[in-house]
Amino acid sequence: MLAIEVADAKKTYDNKIVGIEKVTFNIKYGEVFGYIGPNGAGKSTTIRALMGLLRLDSGLVNIEGHDCFTDGVNARENVGYVPSELSFYNSMTVRKYLEFMMKQKGRGFERIDDLCTYFELNQNRKTGELSLGNKKKLAIVCALACSPKVLIMDEATTGLDPIMQQKFFEQIEKEKKKGTAILLSSHNLNEIQRCCDRVGIIKNGTLVAVKEIGEFKSKLMKRVTFETKYSHPEITIDGVENLKVDGNRYEFNYHGDMKALNDFIASLDIVNVSIVDVDLNEEFMRWY
Ligand code: ADP
Repeated sequence: MLAIEVADAKKTYDNKIVGIEKVTFNIKYGEVFGYIGPNGAGKSTTIRALMGLLRLDSGLVNIEGHDCFTDGVNARENVGYVPSELSFYNSMTVRKYLEFMMKQKGRGFERIDDLCTYFELNQNRKTGELSLGNKKKLAIVCALACSPKVLIMDEATTGLDPIMQQKFFEQIEKEKKKGTAILLSSHNLNEIQRCCDRVGIIKNGTLVAVKEIGEFKSKLMKRVTFETKYSHPEITIDGVENLKVDGNRYEFNYHGDMKALNDFIASLDIVNVSIVDVDLNEEFMRWY
């Protein structure tokens, strides 16, 4: 059985604004799926449909074999959810809020202490007094504390400092090993790529690509910069884009054969050379 199934999903707001259209993807247990797109691309619309918070015009959204709208209680029985917009009961302490949420879910409190310690979240603080980063941590702890089989996280890393992001990804790894299916949405592929098995890229409400992360990375371009001592060579190798020449300094993006590039550079009177991966996010923006 698939953990998450989205098929031909369509949602239009006010009969005119496209939220999502023809969106189709699946997520298996033990798989981390990165759902990537800039603001307004349709990520939250998809996620809100999965969470039963809006009704699709057409298509299907299932979790663990249950329709998210007509059988929402069963669909979300084992789901941990981090919404993009956070709201809590401001006067409750972190502890009370987590206990309240676990009771609502019919879960025990046994994971609360460990998770709050791990994410350095003070259980005695009122939720209304928390900083954005701490609110994010509370939402993440809440999603994890219910021992989910499916995790749906909308922009979960936004607002976390780099150390907390690292801790977050370590938890995601643990959940994945337990067999949890994980949907991680983000506008920043760099931020989440390290833990994703597959990535879906959404643009203007349409999923434009779904790829294994390895396939995605293998197609990454290199940014090549070199400087020659005297010569002004003609660039004769294939796969060069955006060539800029400034005196003896050459800079270009390269997606050709690495041996051809190395042989070419070796034939020159090089003073210095740099070959680095193009930023993943930059590459992802090429889809737009
Ligand atoms: P993302 O989560 O990727 O930022 P959204 O799913 O929030 O994108 O938005 C997708 C599109 O749907 C955008 O054009 C957005 O303006 C529109 N949209 C989202 N929610 C509403 C709403 N409640 N009413 C009208 N338009 C909406």
